[in-house]
Amino acid sequence: VSDVSDLSELQSEIRAFADLRDWQQFHTPKNLAMAITGEAGELAAEFQWLTADESMALTPEQHEAVRLEIADVAIYLLRLADVLGVDVEHAVRDKLAINERRFLAT
Ligand SMILES: [Mg+2]
Repeated sequence: VSDVSDLSELQSEIRAFADLRDWQQFHTPKNLAMAITGEAGELAAEFQWLTADESMALTPEQHEAVRLEIADVAIYLLRLADVLGVDVEHAVRDKLAINERRFLAT
């Protein structure tokens, strides 16, 4: 199973979750972009009062909280890409190519 179909499979599961709850009506691109921002804020909040050293040595509880916020961001990001018909892997590869030309390695 390739990474592409893994992402598509996840998107199908997220879509089904939303469909079962009649949440498609709320999943406009605007709302989903705002949801990504909100969840990114929750992710940042997990690190808010930690020193740099503490952020690199999370307790199991902190690590689990961060893991679940990463999932929240990813769920809304994958849902937004699904709604807009964006192929995430293709978009990431395109952007990496742009960044390679922009930030030349020495
Ligand atoms: Mg969250």
